[in-house]
Amino acid sequence: MTQTTNPAEEHLCDACAGIQRNWRKAPGHAELMQRGNRKEERGSSTVTVTRYVCERCGTVWDYENNKQNQKAGWSVIGRV
Ligand SMILES: [Zn+2]
Repeated sequence: MTQTTNPAEEHLCDACAGIQRNWRKAPGHAELMQRGNRKEERGSSTVTVTRYVCERCGTVWDYENNKQNQKAGWSVIGRV
């Protein structure tokens, strides 16, 4: 494999692999369980970041709801 991958992303289930990352309003999937949310500073504004964990593969996701940034959205944080 010549593609560079993040080690945390090697064991995504099919549903997680299908999530479009770093794109605002991209949908998650049905097996993501919400684990709470927090506020984070983004320059002059505050955004809400929601933490999810996949019940199938244990991948931890953050979803950033940032109206100022089209490239905010889903990102893989790691595994449980
Ligand atoms: Zn998964």
